[in-house]
Amino acid sequence: MREQIYTIPISEAYDADCECPLCLLQKRTEEEAIEYALGAAMMEPDYRTESNEKGYCRRHFEELFAKPNKLSLALVLDTHFEETRKSIEQFKKRAEGLKNSTSGGLFKKSGAQELCEELSGMIAGLEKSCIVCDKLSYTMGRYYDVLLDMWAEEPEFRKKFSMSKGVCLPHMRELLERAPKNLSKKKLAEFVSELFERQSVELARIQEDIHRFTLKFDYRNKDMEWGTAKDAPIRTIEKTVGYIRYDE
Ligand SMILES: [Zn+2]
Ligand SMILES: [Zn+2]
Repeated sequence: MREQIYTIPISEAYDADCECPLCLLQKRTEEEAIEYALGAAMMEPDYRTESNEKGYCRRHFEELFAKPNKLSLALVLDTHFEETRKSIEQFKKRAEGLKNSTSGGLFKKSGAQELCEELSGMIAGLEKSCIVCDKLSYTMGRYYDVLLDMWAEEPEFRKKFSMSKGVCLPHMRELLERAPKNLSKKKLAEFVSELFERQSVELARIQEDIHRFTLKFDYRNKDMEWGTAKDAPIRTIEKTVGYIRYDE
């Protein structure tokens, strides 16, 4: 179960000094998926079919658009947009039929009401659908399972885990959701108590930093040392929601 393609990156991420090693892994996985979507995937008919159907979420369209390769992007968009329009056009007859429709019975939904529900539901599905998100959720799922397994079986990794700066809140949630399925009752109790203790200490540290940052803006504190507070806003955001994209 512990394949090296997962254990080595986890181990390396825990060697890095960062606010969330799982964010490091996720960021790298996400970047690779974006590079792939505009690169090698262009030659993969199966991937293209999947990409045409699923498309990309708003976050990942942003990532794709930030890349210089606009021709690849346009090719991806052209075929995905065609697929999207097909899904919309399936409702055409019903939409046209509304021109001469009667309002229906008192207790029966009208055709227009039904169309509103179904068409908006279909579009909501499209908004959520994303081939990069699917890839991320699969790969990260493997990382969470392997991490929990390493924690349970490898004393050395357990030590690294306990010396880390904890994880962001979304990754804390992921670990809590997965831990009951991966650990024995005894190990689960140990893991949850250790994770909680770690997080409690690290969140208090973040709080101290962000508070210190606010104090620096008081002229009476102008000579106060920044300490570790200088980049507190971004670290506080990333501890709360995971990494975000920003220009340094
Ligand atoms: Zn994270
Ligand atoms: Zn996405």
